[in-house]
Amino acid sequence: MAKTIQAIRGMNDCLPTQSPVWQKVENCLKNVVASYGYNEIRTPIVEMTHLFSRAIGEVTDVVEKEMYTFDDRNGDSLTLRPEGTAGCVRAGIENGLLYNQEQRLWYTGPMFRHERPQKGRYRQFHQFGVEVFGLATPDTDAEVIMLSSKFWRDLGVEKHVRLEINSIGSSEERQEYRTALVAFLEQHVDVLDEDCKRRMHTNPLRVLDSKNPEVQAILKDAPRLSEYLNEESKQHFSQVCELLDAAGIEYTVNERLVRGLDYYNRTVFEWITESLGAQGTVCAGGRYDGLVEQLGGKATPGFGFGLGIERLVLMLETLELNDVRRSVDVYVVTAGEGTTMAGMKLAEQLRDQLPSIRVMNHLGGGNFKKQFKRADKVGAAVALVLGENEVQDNTVVLKDLVGGEQSTHSQDDIIAKLSDVLSV
Ligand code: ATP
Ligand code: MG
Repeated sequence: MAKTIQAIRGMNDCLPTQSPVWQKVENCLKNVVASYGYNEIRTPIVEMTHLFSRAIGEVTDVVEKEMYTFDDRNGDSLTLRPEGTAGCVRAGIENGLLYNQEQRLWYTGPMFRHERPQKGRYRQFHQFGVEVFGLATPDTDAEVIMLSSKFWRDLGVEKHVRLEINSIGSSEERQEYRTALVAFLEQHVDVLDEDCKRRMHTNPLRVLDSKNPEVQAILKDAPRLSEYLNEESKQHFSQVCELLDAAGIEYTVNERLVRGLDYYNRTVFEWITESLGAQGTVCAGGRYDGLVEQLGGKATPGFGFGLGIERLVLMLETLELNDVRRSVDVYVVTAGEGTTMAGMKLAEQLRDQLPSIRVMNHLGGGNFKKQFKRADKVGAAVALVLGENEVQDNTVVLKDLVGGEQSTHSQDDIIAKLSDVLSV
């Protein structure tokens, strides 16, 4: 026998048993963004490598060690997208969608990062994201955060996520803060681990979100970013907070929330759940007013987030909120001369007239016993049975697969009967 070939580590199949909960999540997310009037944008999965290094920042985890980068046959360096914002901005600039315009966009699809695979962390994973362009005012920040909180309400997980927000000011404000922070960290190098020591020189703000408890302990006395914000940035942040308060959205201000990608400014936020262990951030984003210009467009403010679909699916599974609609409502069982075609015709009629129900025909022959077994296996609620007699009399037997009762109906009445039984 030939040797089997396996999937790439950290890249998962979504099997037929798992796809219903994925669809439930994706449909919910799409309905929410549609209800806010946002439009979908689809961009390629592969982009020029320097798009990401320029957008995300050379000294970030993503660019330094996580990207899937390769040379194509022309010798161009290409990268499988590790996130969605850079591609959106690139497409927006290239197609003239951004400057002096307003865009409220969403996207979804696979992202790729070469990380150590573990629960909630994969090498191919899926994000759902929102990007708003051309709006610099705090109402935008608040709307996008409100929109994300509507996801949790609609999925019934609002009690299991909490919101953290912060303002990281402008790059000038951060520059000043950076100097003060590095001076502070230099006095505590003995406590810093290797990772923090490295970050202290390349990207010192990232030391703030170190997971090392000893580092966290000394950071209690570190200079605070909020003290380096100017009046405008402070105003912006307090207005975002006021709007969230008015909308009844609870949050905590986490002064150490800085985010891992370089392009953010002012408002940043994360939705965190305790139900997934270490990989608890399900949705994260913020403002990125400098990114469009940084990628060669005319200055255009932006605000957005990325949500990890795997983590949301895991969360629903952990909380046992992953019940989904059955995939088959009606199973059509036939036996006898001429009944196969009659069954297929009846099924087609049902699909035309009751478009919301799911009708599966038995295929592959066999006796009634075998066919009912299949009906149970696929989880159908009712079976419709057609034998030679029924075909002759233009009737059909309806069998309730849960309760077990059965009754005979004229084929003309079966639509009405089914919509009653299935409440559609
Ligand atoms: P983390 O701190 O968990 O590494 P991140 O800051 O790198 O996350 P972002 O770049 O902000 O993540 O991506 C937005 C969201 O995408 C995350 O909050 C998370 O839900 C999801 N995500 C990021 N990386 C992965 C991954 N490797 N596997 C699964 N989901 C991921
Ligand atoms: Mg990461």
